[in-house]
Amino acid sequence: MQDLESYLGGKWVQGSGEGATLVNPATDEPVARSSTEGFDLAEALSFSRNVGGAALRSLTFAQRADILRSLAETVVQHRTELLNLSTLNNGATRSDSKFDVDGASFTFQAYADLGESLGDRRYLVDGEAEELLRSKRLAGLHVKVPRRGVAVHVNAFNFPAWGMAEKMAVALLAGMPVFTKPATATALTSWRMAKAFVETGALPEGAFSFLAGSAGDLVDQLVYGDVLAFTGSGALGTRFKSAAHLASAGISVNVEADSLNAAVLGPDVEPGTDTWDLFIRDVFRDIHQKTGQKCTAIRRVLVPESLVDDVSEALIDAASSLKIGNPANKDVRMGPVVNRRQQQDVLEGLGRLGEQVQQIYGTDRPNGLIDVQEGQGSFVGIHLFKASDPSASMNASVVHDFEVFGPATTLLPYDGTSSQAASMVALGKGGLVSSVYSDDRTYARELVLDLAPHHGRLTLGSKKIADSSPGPGTVLPQLVHGGPGRAGGGEELGGIRGLDFYLQRTALQGYRPLLERLFDGS
Ligand code: NAP
Repeated sequence: MQDLESYLGGKWVQGSGEGATLVNPATDEPVARSSTEGFDLAEALSFSRNVGGAALRSLTFAQRADILRSLAETVVQHRTELLNLSTLNNGATRSDSKFDVDGASFTFQAYADLGESLGDRRYLVDGEAEELLRSKRLAGLHVKVPRRGVAVHVNAFNFPAWGMAEKMAVALLAGMPVFTKPATATALTSWRMAKAFVETGALPEGAFSFLAGSAGDLVDQLVYGDVLAFTGSGALGTRFKSAAHLASAGISVNVEADSLNAAVLGPDVEPGTDTWDLFIRDVFRDIHQKTGQKCTAIRRVLVPESLVDDVSEALIDAASSLKIGNPANKDVRMGPVVNRRQQQDVLEGLGRLGEQVQQIYGTDRPNGLIDVQEGQGSFVGIHLFKASDPSASMNASVVHDFEVFGPATTLLPYDGTSSQAASMVALGKGGLVSSVYSDDRTYARELVLDLAPHHGRLTLGSKKIADSSPGPGTVLPQLVHGGPGRAGGGEELGGIRGLDFYLQRTALQGYRPLLERLFDGS
C-alpha cells in the first residue's frame, strides 16, 4: 500500500497517525494511505508565500510558460502510469482516465502557449493610457500585478489530475505560488503527478506545495494577500465564501460548486437527423462518463412533449448495452462511483428523485457486472427519470434543486417554446453549463439570450458542428468555467481572463510619458 507524502516547505514529509485509507472502488481493496497530522501548515504557507512568490515574480511570462510546458510534458511522460492509477483509485475506465489526465496536459500546454504569447514581461497592462481632466500631460493607466500571497487550491475528488492542473497552470502563469490540496479519496493520481512535477526541477523553490489528505486548519491559516480557489460541494463553498476570517482579511475566494446543468432539445429537431444524434450522444455521454461524477454533467433534459418517447427509447437503448464493471477490464465502459460513501449519497439522492418523478430505467446495483465479485465495489446503475408533462416538469422541485452526483438524468417534457424552456432551466438557480440543440436560429438565439444570465457557459449544438463538438461536459481552457448562483459564482480558465483572480488591477495616474515607460521591458 502506498503512503502518500505531502510536499511542504520544499520537502516531502509524512504525516503522523493512521490517516485515511484510499480504496479501489471496484474491489473495495485499500490502495494507499494519507495522513496530514502534525504538519505546521502556517509555516508551510509562509515558505510558499515568501520564497515561491518572490521566485515566480522574478520570471517573465515566457519563463513561467517554460515551466508550464515542462509540466505538460511531465504529464505526457507519465501518462500510462497516471491512467493506471486513475483506474485503480478513481474507478475510472481508460477513456475516463484519459479525459482527466489528457485534460491536465492539454490545459498546461494551452497556458504555456498563452504565456509565450505574453512574452518577456512580468506584469500586464490593461488597455491604453487615457487622457485625464483634458490635460495632455496627466494620464491614467491600469496595470495588473501578481498578488503577494499564496494561491491555495482545494479540489474535488472527480478530477484529481485535470482539477489540479487547471488551477495550477493559471496561478503559476500569473506569478503566484501554488498550494494544492486534492480531495483525499482520489489523491493517489494527484500525488503521483505532484511527485513527477517536483522531480522535473522545473518549479522554482516554494512555487509548489502539495497537501496529500485532510485539510486540517489550512483555510484558517490564510492571510491578507492569499487567495482561495475551491472546487467541491455547494455547502462547503458557501462556508468558505461566508467565513468571517477570510472576509475580514480581504481574501478572494473563488467557488466552483454543483450545478443542475440542462440540455434543451429544440422543437425543430427530428429523430435521425445529425442534430438529434448529437443531442442523444451528448446526453448519454454525460450520464455515464466518469459514472456521472462530473460537475458539468447534464442532469435535466428538456424535450418537446411529442418527442419524449423517442428520446427515452434512444437513451434506454444506449444504457441497456453499456458494459459496466471493473474498469481494469478494457471492455468496461462505466466503472463504480468513487467510494462507498459516494455510493450511499447517490442511492439516497436517486430515492429522493424517485419520490417526485417516475423512474423509467435503472437498478441500484447493475446486473451482469464485468469482473466484479458478488457484493463488491461501489457500483450504481444508470438511472433515467421522467416527469409526466410540462406542468409536472415545472413543479419537480427536487430535480431543479438537488444534484445527484452519479449516473442519472431526468427527462422534462416542455411545450416546445423557448420561453417555457428558459423558465424551466432557470429553476436550477444558476449553472455551470447548459446546452441548446437546434438548427432554428431564431429559437436558439431567443433561448440563449434568456439562458445566458444564469450560466457561465452555453453550448449550441447544431448539424454544422455535429462531427466536431466535444459536448457541454468538456471544459476547454480558452472558455470560462464557473457559473452564477448555485454553481458558486466563480470563474476559472477563459484564457487570459483566468489570470485576473491572481492579479491585482491597479489604476495609475500621473505624467503620461512616465506611465507609458514605467512598464516598458518589465
Ligand atoms: P467536498 O466534499 O465539498 O470536498 C471538496 C474538497 O474540499 C475536498 O478536497 C475536501 O477534502 C475539501 N475539504 C473538506 N473540508 C475542508 C476544510 N475544512 N477545509 C479545506 N478543505 C476541505 O466535495 P467533493 O465530494 O470532493 O466533490 C463533489 C462535489 O464537487 C459535487 O457537488 C460537484 O458538483 C462539485 N464539483 C464542482 C466542480 C466545478 O468545477 N464546479 C467540479 C467538480 C466537482 P477531503 O477530501 O480531504 O475531505
